[in-house]
Amino acid sequence: MAYRIHASDRTAFKRCRRQWDLSSRNRQNLEPIAGSGLIDLAQAVHDALAVYYFPGMWEWDRSIVAPLVHQALERSVRTQAKAVGGVGVDDQALQETLNCGRALLDAYAAWAPTVDHFTPIRVDTDFEANIPDPATPGATLVTPAGAEIRYCDRVDLLAIDSDDAYWVVQHRLVTDDWADHDALQLDERSIAWSWAWPQFYLGMQITGTMYNEIRADASDVGASATHPVRHQQVHHRRMYARSGTVSGERLQAEGTDAFRRTMIRRGAAELAAAGADLAAEVSAATSTDLVVYPSPEPDVCAQCSYRTPCLILNQGDDATGELSKSYRHRPPESVQEGRLGGVTWSMNRGAAPPRWPI
Ligand code: SF4
Repeated sequence: MAYRIHASDRTAFKRCRRQWDLSSRNRQNLEPIAGSGLIDLAQAVHDALAVYYFPGMWEWDRSIVAPLVHQALERSVRTQAKAVGGVGVDDQALQETLNCGRALLDAYAAWAPTVDHFTPIRVDTDFEANIPDPATPGATLVTPAGAEIRYCDRVDLLAIDSDDAYWVVQHRLVTDDWADHDALQLDERSIAWSWAWPQFYLGMQITGTMYNEIRADASDVGASATHPVRHQQVHHRRMYARSGTVSGERLQAEGTDAFRRTMIRRGAAELAAAGADLAAEVSAATSTDLVVYPSPEPDVCAQCSYRTPCLILNQGDDATGELSKSYRHRPPESVQEGRLGGVTWSMNRGAAPPRWPI
């Protein structure tokens, strides 16, 4: 059986090994029994944008797509509210979240066509990539027990531009300032998407990463929610393994007070280095002599769901009782048919979207 390391695993491993050890599906796989009680608007907007950019509907009139986008937002918010058991989510809070999300998406739909110089190819598409072993050319990494190691994640949006160049797009809901350009250039997750995708979809090179930043208060900062306008058509519908060649600035950004789109080209050397870094980290995480220790850091610990057992362990006590009382093992991930790669339906003109349950 393969050893799958998800992007969130990788982040947790580097952030705090104790948190990773308690939470990772490859380790103790524990989650708090009590949920956060919060609805994640970023997730809901993300889910709505997956419909906005759904390839099969890209050429549809936007006035037809807009209600479907709203439905996706509502479906996500209600699903989340149900998952947190209604704790802390009253009807008024739920309605306010929905109103805020709808206004934000309407404002986005009025702006996005001015910068969407591409055609969506896939939305929310999963991948799994073997990791080349830097020490043995032609071999891939395995665990000490011999299991193949695969890096897994889900790309928000894969798109092709008018030069036949492929881009991975990451949606971000911004609550403070825009991300610093250096922070975007260093964004490990989207660089890993660019590195991993050609391993998964053989030979399909990624030109760069796009960051689609949306201010959470977009509907209040002057973004007009006018009627959705038609986006620019870039007539490339199929996925070809070979991308076109492009030239230009490494980083380009444009936007308004409410929205910003940043494109960063990623070179072969940068992606190769990212793959080597991933291999080193995964080797460390799966080694038999791994040492697990806490890495307290105020901003991280303040949001950590494992503070109580962490404090118990710090005092040299046994946290087993607390872990069995307040935490449970995560159920196996539910497998969505055709989820890997994210496409089971036609994407051609006029294709009907999948049946989304409300
Ligand atoms: S509370 Fe801090 S140190 Fe402890 S597990 Fe969480 S992140 Fe790590």
